[in-house]
Amino acid sequence: MTSSHSPLKPNAVIGIVGGGQLGRMSAIAAARLGFRTHILTTEANGPAAQVSHAVTCGKYDDPAALDAFASAVDVVTFEFENISADALDLLATHCPVHPSGHILRISQDRLAEKTFFASAGIPLAPWHAVTDVKTLHEAAEKVCLPLILKTTRNGYDGKGQRRVHHIHDLEDAFNALAPHPLVAEGMVDFACEISVMVVRSADGTVRCFDPALNRHWNGILDLTLAPAPIDPNIAAQAVKLATTIAEKLELVGILGVEMFVDRTGNLLVNEMAPRPHNSGHWTMNACPQDQFDMHIRAVAGLPLPHAVRHSDAIMKNLVGPEDMALLPQIMATQGFIPHLYGKKEARVGRKMGHVNILFPYGALPGNLGVQDALGPLATKTAAPEPKEDTAAS
Ligand code: AMP
Repeated sequence: MTSSHSPLKPNAVIGIVGGGQLGRMSAIAAARLGFRTHILTTEANGPAAQVSHAVTCGKYDDPAALDAFASAVDVVTFEFENISADALDLLATHCPVHPSGHILRISQDRLAEKTFFASAGIPLAPWHAVTDVKTLHEAAEKVCLPLILKTTRNGYDGKGQRRVHHIHDLEDAFNALAPHPLVAEGMVDFACEISVMVVRSADGTVRCFDPALNRHWNGILDLTLAPAPIDPNIAAQAVKLATTIAEKLELVGILGVEMFVDRTGNLLVNEMAPRPHNSGHWTMNACPQDQFDMHIRAVAGLPLPHAVRHSDAIMKNLVGPEDMALLPQIMATQGFIPHLYGKKEARVGRKMGHVNILFPYGALPGNLGVQDALGPLATKTAAPEPKEDTAAS
C-alpha cells in the first residue's frame, strides 16, 4: 500500500475501473509516465483493455472480481460513474482509490450534488426535489415554468430528462420518468455552455485547464472550442468555481465541471463528473500535459505542472456510423488529429473517436471559420434542443 503523498514508482500498476475510451486514453497517459495499467471491465477486448497491461473481466459489483483486481494493483481510479460507491469503498480497503467513493457518491445523485453545491456557495439554477405529485407541483411553483425534470441517478447525455413548458404536461413528464425521485430545475436561457477541467493532488495543489465552450447535438457533445470565447472575467470566475469545488471535495484526480453562462453573464453550475471528460479531449493536442496526464499524475502522487495551453483548439466528436463513414476523408485532411477508440461497432449515438484541430494561440476562428476548419465534418450547423431519452453512450 502506498501513502497518498509518496509517488508511485515506475512500473507500478494503476487499476482503472471501466473499459471505455476514457480508460483507454488514461492508460496511454499512464504508459507515457512509465506505469502499467490493469483494467476492471465487463468487456474483455474493449477500448481500454486493448492498450493495457492486464485485464480483470468481471461485473463491477462482484466481490470476487473486485478482490482479484484490487490485489493486482497499487492504486485505483475509475473512468465511468456506473460503479457503486460501495464497490469503491471495498477497493479502498486494499489500496488507495482516487477520486474517493465519497465524491462518486455525491456526483452519482443529482440531489446530493446540488445539496453539496449549495452548501459550497456554488451558483445553481433554481431547483426542487420531486418525490411525488405534491412535491411536483411545489417544484413548478418554486422554480417556475419552463422547467426540466431529471432523474436523480443514471442520467447522461440528456437521458432521463423531460422538458415541461405547460403546466398540463407536468404530471405526464413525472410519470414518464423513472426511477423516482426526480429533481426539477428551472430552464436556463443560456448564452452558452462551458466546462472546466480541474485537477487536484493529495498535497492540495489545484490546476485548471482553460474553460472550453461546448455544443451538443441530439443531447450528445458534438463540438468543444478551446478556449471558450467568453469574457475573461467570466472565464476567471469559472476557474474559481471549479477550484472551490475541487477543494471542498478534497479531490485527488481530475473532475469536469459543466456550467451555463446565462444571458446576463452569470455562471450557473449544471453538474460535475469526477473523471476525465469528453469536453477535455482538446487538451490532448493543445497542451503539453493533457487531462489524462494530469489525472494520472494526481492519482500517482506525482507533482502537478501548470495546466498550460500552447494552442487554441476545436474538438469534434465522431459519433455513430454517419461520422465513421467519413473516416477516409478525416484521415486525408491536413491538420486533423484523429483519436479513435477501437470500438468494433459504430452504433447510432455511440462515441467512436474524436478529431482535434489546432490553431495558433489566440487564433481560434469565429463560427464561420469553425465550419470552414471542420471541412468534411461540417455537417451540423445549428445545435437543436436535445432529443430526450434517445441518446446512447
Ligand atoms: P445534463 O444531463 O444535466 O448535462 O443535461 C444535458 C443537457 O441538457 C445540457 O448540456 C444542457 O444543454 C441541457 N440542460 C440541462 N439542464 C438544463 C437547464 N436547467 N436549463 C437549460 N438547459 C439544460
